Amino acid sequence: MSDYDVIIAGGGLAGTIAAQSVSHYSNQGLKILVIDRSPSNLPGLKSVSGWICGDAVSKEAVDYMTTRIKVNWTEPEIEHKVKGVMAFSPDRETSIPFDGAGYMLNRQVLPERQNQRTLAMGVDFDFEINLTGLVYEGNQVVGVQGIDNKTKTPYKKTAKVVVDATGMTSMLRNQISNTTKMEKKVDRRDVESTGRHIMYFEDGEKDLTEFDPDYCIIHLDQDIAPGGYGWVFPKGKNKVNIGLGVEKTLLEKRNQRLGKSDSVSSLINEYVERNRAIKNPRLSEDPQDKNNATGNFQVSVRRQNDCMVANGFVLVGDSAWMPKPLDAGGIGPALVAGTIVGKCVVEAIQSGDVTEKGLWKYNKEFVNEYGYKTAGLEIFRRLIQTLTNEQISYGMKHFLGNMDVEAISKGEHPDFSNVTKLGMMIRGALNKKLADGLRFTTQQNRLLTEHYHNYPDTPDGFNDWSKKLHQILDESNAKLSQYQN
Ligand SMILES: Cc1cc2nc3c(=O)[nH]c(=O)nc-3n(C[C@H](O)[C@H](O)[C@H](O)COP(=O)(O)OP(=O)(O)OC[C@H]3O[C@@H](n4cnc5c(N)ncnc54)[C@H](O)[C@@H]3O)c2cc1C
Repeated sequence: MSDYDVIIAGGGLAGTIAAQSVSHYSNQGLKILVIDRSPSNLPGLKSVSGWICGDAVSKEAVDYMTTRIKVNWTEPEIEHKVKGVMAFSPDRETSIPFDGAGYMLNRQVLPERQNQRTLAMGVDFDFEINLTGLVYEGNQVVGVQGIDNKTKTPYKKTAKVVVDATGMTSMLRNQISNTTKMEKKVDRRDVESTGRHIMYFEDGEKDLTEFDPDYCIIHLDQDIAPGGYGWVFPKGKNKVNIGLGVEKTLLEKRNQRLGKSDSVSSLINEYVERNRAIKNPRLSEDPQDKNNATGNFQVSVRRQNDCMVANGFVLVGDSAWMPKPLDAGGIGPALVAGTIVGKCVVEAIQSGDVTEKGLWKYNKEFVNEYGYKTAGLEIFRRLIQTLTNEQISYGMKHFLGNMDVEAISKGEHPDFSNVTKLGMMIRGALNKKLADGLRFTTQQNRLLTEHYHNYPDTPDGFNDWSKKLHQILDESNAKLSQYQN
């Protein structure tokens, strides 16, 4: 007899949504426990520096969750509303809208509210528990173990299903031993080192490419944020979440190229300083930011784990590497996956099959809803990371058509209709190389999207599917290495 029906390891964003979803779909008929290492007065902390995030999420993703599991996000966890995200080229001459209307969240307040709502839905919590591994019975995961930091004693709890929502560096996924389908480790090149400040400021020059109270701004620039981007996300008329992300090896190359020795933190401080619209910036001392005003953290930018289920075990959120490869947005996919995983776990428990086979539907439903596009975006991201600022500016100005912008705004890989137009004049060898690269990623994206639409219905088909996936990815990566400038 298990202690619980479902254990959610990690009570962050993805974990609490998954718990609410299990509660909703079982009509509070299942025993659910959320376990987190944070203290109960600081729930869902990513690290000692806080809930480090850009705080932006699309309205569409929040609505996806709300309509299905009837959890409503309102003020004060929604701190500010925006009309969309705007990405600017390095020369600032071209901008592309992303994602549509959205919200700027308060990530310190959100988990407090999430926990109140989750408790009211009949879910139990255990705080200050550092989970270190899984408990197995034969080939089935039947629980979790770790240390109770309150009493410094060993901790163990059992359940029919364990949902791993412990974030990107998950120790549970890293050590899983009852599956060969689930990937355990992330490639360092698929990780962005990021950081940000939450700040108040006085008005500087009016420049909507630097700060816009209605839009989240993204700056693509290989000198400012090599292999990533800088962001200026409004939290009010004079309040901002400002930061950037880089790929570490590309930062080293950039430092060599410019004869500098910048780190993520020094780049962020320079980025704040050079912003002409922001005068006298200072870290927020608001009570609702006091544990969260500045910090650095890692985020993955790859496709989700090729297989997110094992016997008695599933992954959700950053532990499944869900943040979108192009912009590292992980809240949206966590909302979608958290909702779906709850439904699939309840169905598996009710049908009496919590093996890999019984839980498989979660893989399939997430891929159909969201995950079908991520491998194509991973390839596209790798191409963008090879480009110079001049190539990015030229490409954004000349190669994007209206349909492409529409695809990007829906989070899809664009078709680059202009690049394939016969007779289009392309100036410069580097831009011809870029056009060739874009044609290539478009073609690979079509292959990958089609392949994900054939994601197997049962575990039996997985090995063949995975072999073909890796064949396409290996070919793509080999070709992309030729584009490196
Ligand atoms: C700088 C930065 C900016 C970002 N900006 C955005 C953005 O603007 N929009 C967006 O959509 N996404 C953004 N993201 C990504 C987003 O923050 C994540 O995708 C999201 O927080 C993932 O939630 P999660 O619940 O999966 O993981 P986490 O938030 O990491 O939560 C994991 C939880 O598990 C707990 N835990 C971890 N290990 C253990 C353990 N061993 N034992 C017990 N408990 C444990 C932690 O305490 C925590 O509560 C950003 C990320 C970073 C780093």
